[in-house]
Formats: sequence, structure tokens, C-alpha cells
Amino acid sequence: MRLFLALDLDAPARACAVEVQGRARRAPALRNVTVRWVRPESLHLTLAFLGEVDADRVAPIARAAAEPWRHAPFRVELASAEAAPRSGAPRTLWLSVSAGRAALAHLHADACARMGPLLSAPVDPRPPGHVTLGRLRRAPRSSGRPVRDAVAGLAVPAFGWRVDSVVLYQSRLASGGASYRPLARAPLGCVILDAVP
Ligand code: ATP
Ligand code: MG
Repeated sequence: MRLFLALDLDAPARACAVEVQGRARRAPALRNVTVRWVRPESLHLTLAFLGEVDADRVAPIARAAAEPWRHAPFRVELASAEAAPRSGAPRTLWLSVSAGRAALAHLHADACARMGPLLSAPVDPRPPGHVTLGRLRRAPRSSGRPVRDAVAGLAVPAFGWRVDSVVLYQSRLASGGASYRPLARAPLGCVILDAVP
């Protein structure tokens, strides 16, 4: 089973991301390439991609993911749409995290420590940094410059939300785009608020 831990956007942030997708769709440079847009309900910030996991490991992983996180809720902000990678054929359109990176890195490290012993391969050590809006299909190299310029020109105003839970998703890949099924959810906020002797 293909699994990942993610942070859901709240409804207003989701609406902002959908609005950016709408403007990107209408950009002339993006009409010449095929983009598979992430569906509104699937927009997320990946905390840790766990990869393909054997069936007998799913229950322990779900139990671990359902344990509260020892981390205070925090705000994440997104700003600036980008086409990645920065050179060559563009493959992904995303919104970059502009605030909350330190908290994300901390939570990511917690997720790696919690999930690592339950997995056969190490989790990607790079902390999360973007919300994917769409994926380009076989875009030619020559489309790189106009696509990157068009996406940069969207001038996305910063928006964000308060992260207060972590969700374990199963990803089911399909030709029309992956669909994600939530398997477990746990809150943030289990922290010691004052010095305890
Ligand atoms: P598709 O691969 O068909 O485009 P998808 O990327 O939405 O669909 P998955 O590949 O299952 O579906 O990925 C689920 C989430 O994990 C996505 O946010 C994706 O960007 C992220 N992800 C996938 N592979 C990796 C990886 N190797 N390292 C880090 N994150 C990954
Ligand atoms: Mg993928």
C-alpha cells in the first residue's frame, strides 16, 4: 500500500489555492501544455512520503500515526507559485512555503523518527516545502521559460492556515490522477507548557 503523512489545508486556504489554479489555467503559456490539476479535495502539504508498504505493516503504521504529536499547532503560509524544476522541462506547479518552515522541519523530523523503525526504507530527509497544484504531462523543454514566467507572473498573495493535525493517507495511483484515502488522523498540541520538575 502506498502511504504518506500530510497536512490538510483548511477550507479558506484550499479556496485560495483553487483560485490560483484557476488563474494559472487561464494563463496563455499554460494553454499549450497539458496539466493534470490536483483536485481541490486532494490539495495537501506532504509531511513525509512513506512509499510502498507491505500489508502487514499498515496497521502498526496507522496506530503510530494516530498517536498525538508532541508539537504545538502552528501557522503555515504559502506564497509564490513556481514551476519546478528550475531548468529544463517543467514537471510540477506548486506553491512554496513562505512561513512555518522551522516548525515544519521539526514536525518532519518527528515523523521520520516515529515512522522510520516501521519502514524498510528511510523516509526522504528533506523537510516539506510546497503544495503541488498540478503536474505537467510531457511538457517540452522549450515550454520551460514561458511556463516559468507565466507561473511567476501569477503574483500570489501570501495565504495560510493553522496546522493542528497530521493525516496518514493511502495513495491510489490512477491515470486520471492519484486519489487519497485518509487512514488515521492525530492532533498536534500535546506539549508540556511549563517546566516540570
Ligand atoms: P502521481 O504520482 O500519479 O502524480 P501523486 O504524486 O499525487 O500522483 P503519490 O506519488 O502517491 O501521488 O504521492 C503522494 C504524495 O507524496 C504527493 O504529495 C507527492 O508529491 C509525495 N511524494 C511522492 N513520492 C515522493 C518521494 N519520493 N519523496 C517525497 N515525496 C513524495
Ligand atoms: Mg507522485
